[in-house]
Amino acid sequence: MKYAPQRLHAIRGELLHFVADPADQGATSTEHLPDGVLLIENGHITECGPADALLSRLPAHIPVTDYRGKLIMPGFVDTHIHYAQTDIIGSYGEQLLAWLEKYTFPTERRFADPAHAAEVAGFFCDELLKNGTTTAMAFATVHPTSVDALFEAAQQRHMRMIAGKVLMDRNCPDFLADTAETGYADSKALIEKWHERDRLLYAVTPRFAPTSSREQMTLAGRLFAEHPGVYLQSHVAENRGEVAWVTELYPEARSYLDVYDRYHQLGVRSVYAHCIWLDDADRQRMADTGATMSFCPTSNLFLGSGLFDLDRAHQLGVRVGIGTDVGGGTSFSMLQALNEAYKVLQLNGQQLSAERAFYLATLGGARSLYLDDRIGNFKLGKEADFVVIDPAATPLLARRMAHTRTLAERLFVIMTLGDDRCIAATHLLGERAYVAQS
Ligand SMILES: [Zn+2]
Repeated sequence: MKYAPQRLHAIRGELLHFVADPADQGATSTEHLPDGVLLIENGHITECGPADALLSRLPAHIPVTDYRGKLIMPGFVDTHIHYAQTDIIGSYGEQLLAWLEKYTFPTERRFADPAHAAEVAGFFCDELLKNGTTTAMAFATVHPTSVDALFEAAQQRHMRMIAGKVLMDRNCPDFLADTAETGYADSKALIEKWHERDRLLYAVTPRFAPTSSREQMTLAGRLFAEHPGVYLQSHVAENRGEVAWVTELYPEARSYLDVYDRYHQLGVRSVYAHCIWLDDADRQRMADTGATMSFCPTSNLFLGSGLFDLDRAHQLGVRVGIGTDVGGGTSFSMLQALNEAYKVLQLNGQQLSAERAFYLATLGGARSLYLDDRIGNFKLGKEADFVVIDPAATPLLARRMAHTRTLAERLFVIMTLGDDRCIAATHLLGERAYVAQS
């Protein structure tokens, strides 16, 4: 059933959203209303403007939710996360390939059980909302029922979710392997069942090139081509050991990225996590094909993978979003992802302004997923997904905020010190989907 809250209502508070990338357009990219109102009807934004002008012409019976003292921004967009890894977040001591063997594969095995999948999916969606994330692009597991469980949980909450069944037919335990044929057939059935149903979108999901046979890679590219509007998500060039392994497995390819290219997996709505160990030919190819990079800073630091080059991606015109990559990532909080993104870029001799960071978490993320016609800012007609941030949620934050003068300083403190404690409420299609206990 289509969820369409009919009521006309208004939200009042400090509003901040982006209309362009601050790296391209500077101050004109940011719209800030210290006392603003969002008018929402049928779950979509019908107006956004200063409170004094808007409220005076609003009929008295229209309900107004008053969030003055809080900062309202578009909901965060997490472009890469694994819902089945919720229970291994913060597991000690490994880099990528050993991490998969030791932690990931055993925990993903449990998703053969639909009841387990449903329980984790519900927790996962609630945790996203608790962190202000309203759109996520998620890996399920190899089990088709794990996709059903995640989509059902997202659908119940009216969340925008992009997800898919992992394709993996080699270099993995037998209990997690599909085959090229079953992976293709199961994915096709899931696309028919879920893609574009309510707010749900399907992503063809080869885990990464080493765990798919050539036949499976061919069929993954075919699924992507056969279903216009469907996404494709995978991993590329995360870790140097992984890159060396891909060179052994696919000696004919020019680079790791070129493997995906050869199997027709680069294009609009293809999203690749990490993208660390690429060269400029790879980056240019991603830009030319419209493929997206998901920058996953907490994961890249935690697994010791490497430092993402945001400046080079931007110079070459590649779309970039931010991902938490839980469970390799260490937090569901996009604020913490921004905090760590800043540090990764510092180590690379690059800077990330607070405005640019929040752009990447909102409109930039929406653009990277080709969803900016529906979400990402407060423009007329957008879906009214937003997060209400309490800038003084903790004693330290309150104290530090008292020493800030500019919006940029306040935003930087929020992303540096903030986490789920800062999220006062999260709204989906205008309706409150999460509220902090006070
Ligand atoms: Zn990942």
